[in-house]
This record gives sequence, C-alpha cells and structure tokens, in this order.
Amino acid sequence: MAKTSFPTFDTIESYGHEQVVFCSNKELGLKAIIGIHNTTLGPALGGTRMWNYASDEEALIDVLRLSRGMTYKAAVAGLNLGGGKAVIIGDSRTQKTEALFRAFGRFVEGLSGRYITAEDVGTSIKDMEYIMMETRHVTGVPIEVGGSGDPSPVTAYGTYVGIKACVNEVFGSDSVKDKKIVIQGAGGNVGKHLCKYLHKEGAILFVNDLYEDKLKAIVEDCNAKIVSQDEAFTMEADVFSPAALGGIINDETIPKLKVKIVAGAANNQLGDEEKHGKMLKDKGILYAPDYVINAGGLINVYNELEGYNRERALNQASGIYDILKKIIEISKKENVPTEVASRKIAEERINAISSAKRIRVYRDRTLFKSRNI
Ligand code: NAD
Repeated sequence: MAKTSFPTFDTIESYGHEQVVFCSNKELGLKAIIGIHNTTLGPALGGTRMWNYASDEEALIDVLRLSRGMTYKAAVAGLNLGGGKAVIIGDSRTQKTEALFRAFGRFVEGLSGRYITAEDVGTSIKDMEYIMMETRHVTGVPIEVGGSGDPSPVTAYGTYVGIKACVNEVFGSDSVKDKKIVIQGAGGNVGKHLCKYLHKEGAILFVNDLYEDKLKAIVEDCNAKIVSQDEAFTMEADVFSPAALGGIINDETIPKLKVKIVAGAANNQLGDEEKHGKMLKDKGILYAPDYVINAGGLINVYNELEGYNRERALNQASGIYDILKKIIEISKKENVPTEVASRKIAEERINAISSAKRIRVYRDRTLFKSRNI
C-alpha cells in the first residue's frame, strides 16, 4: 500500500472542510480531488482546474484553498451556494480525453448534487460538455444546451460597478468620468469588456497586456493608451485594476503603487491575504477584495441553475456595488482591512443560516418523538 507522506485529516481539518473526495481511474489516467468546503448555504459550486501539479500534496492544498475561497465568495455575494472546487492532476495540453472527463463526470454524479462543477484554469466548455454526458451537476455549458456561455461580460460588469462603489467612497461621486484607470491584462476576456464599460462613461484608460497585439482594438475603440508592465504599477492614477494574474499585489509592488484604489477582476491578487491587505490599508489604498468584485462569473453560472437569463444575471451582478459599500463601512467602523470585513460578512451569514438549520433539525426531531417515530 502506498505510504501517505502528509497528514491528510489534519490538513483537511485545518481548512475546515466537510468532505474531500479522491477520484481515481488508473486505466484512463484520472487522478482528481473534489473539495467540498461548506454546504450550509447550498450545494458546493466551483470549477474544475486541470494542472500538472508537482505532487499530490500540492494538488490537495490547492483544492482545499480554492474551495474554501468559493464558500466566502458565494456567501458574500448572497448566493444560495456552498464552496467547492475540483482539481484534475495532469497536463491540460496533452492529457485531455473524452473518456477522462466522462469518468470525472461520473464521480461528480456520485455526489448527487452536493458538488456542482464548472470551467476553470485548464478546462474548457468542451470538457464541460463531456462531463454533462454523465451528470447534470455541471454549469458553464454553452447557451445552445441551456447554459450561460461566456461569463466574462457579467464578470466585467460586476467589476465596473465595484469600481464605481470604490470611486464613490474615495471621491464622493460614482462617476468614473475623467478618472485615470490602469487595467492590467486589458486584452483578456474580462479586461476588454471592462474597458468598454469604463470608456463609455468617460474614464481615461491606460492599458497593459503581456501580448500587446491584443490591445489594438481597445486602443482604437476606447481611446486607451498602452503602458509598460512597470508603468502599470508605478504610474500615478486613480485606480489600478488587475485583470490578469494572481499574486501581483505583494511586498515588491505595494511600495511602487501611486493609486488610491485597487479594484479588479483577477483572482487571488494579494500575495498574502492578511499581510498585503493590511499593507494596502496602511498605505491609504482602498482595496476591493477580489472574490467580491469578480463574483459576476459565479453569479452568471448560478443563474444557469434557475434557467439562464442574462438580464437577471447582470441585474444581480449590479448588487456588487452595495456589497462593497457595506464591506467598506465595516472596514472603516472596525478599522480592519476590507478583506477582513468581507470575511466577517461571509462568516456571519453562514453562521446565521447554520443555526437556523440546527433549530429546524431540532424541531423535526421533536416532532418525530411526539409521534413515537
Ligand atoms: P484571459 O486569459 O482571457 O485574460 C488574461 C489576460 O491577461 C490575457 O490577455 C493575457 O495575455 C494577460 N496577461 C497574462 N499575464 C500577464 C502579465 N503578466 N501582465 C499583463 N497581462 C498579462 O482571462 P480572463 O477570463 O479575462 O480572466 C482574467 C482574470 O480574472 C483571471 O485572474 C481570472 O481568474 C479572473 N476571473 C475571470 C472571470 C471570468 O468570468 N472570465 C471570473 C472571475 C475571475
């Protein structure tokens, strides 16, 4: 028997998970882990990431971290969803097959709806279609088969209203007209839609992307100016909006920033959530927690569960404005970073629903007793 080199239960307990499922099919080369962090608010929804992890332990830690993040994201966004995520260990460029995804789909089906999957890094709509052949507990499928299609426009819209909430806090008005906004990763799916919303309202855009050719249309349509990687961090502006990679707000970049607001769609922007959230606050920079401002993508797939309607999804994403205002209020009142304030909102909601559920179970048991069951 293979020797376990890491303390699995200790690790799982330290993240507070309900359930972790290891899925294996040796013949097909499937090695996957599904993390169900918390289902108090509803079924655990989160994407499936396919990544060539260096070790099983690295894959486990990633799924635990990502699925816990989904619990907070859904809770703050006010959705009736729990937090879950899955990882498939493997190279997404060379190891994808229909059989592999269908085998994974059968594991998802085996959880009877406790976990609902979607796309993530390394997986595509096509992969979701294979999973859908085995289970209906999958979202992010094409519009033609009843899905919600590309979530990026809704994510961008939520980010746009989130930026407005921050601008309102700092400048006393919602309007982004004449505000200087730097967008990193502006050539990407979310970035390009975000640029359009901001330009329409008269913002002055500075854009950057690893691949400059992706910026051509934005420069023309939105009158944007291209800036270098370095300038994106160092230039004086009102808002820095990351829409590319995670981990870019760190010890090295925070001292360079000359903006009043960091508010963008990229996931896991802070290198270290607590440390860098506090560093931004100490520097007087308002930070919109990434999982709050980019919740439009999750809101979009959530709508798929109820029969997709883009208008409703956009309308729901506009709620990100009020959620951020509430987070900022708590952050000011309790003198804590916005990241801490948003976690507090999530935990309060989960705890309130969790106690309500306990009361209901107690009532049901009392009822059974009175009937001698
Ligand atoms: P994408 O791959 O379409 O776009 C990312 C862009 O960033 C690309 O144009 C890429 O060239 C650029 N880029 C990569 N590295 C860069 C670097 N070092 N400097 C500058 N630019 C760089 O991805 P996307 O779907 O637009 O997502 C963007 C971010 O938002 C990601 O962090 C993603 O996890 C997050 N997010 C996306 C959604 C969604 O609906 N697509 C939802 C929630 C969160």
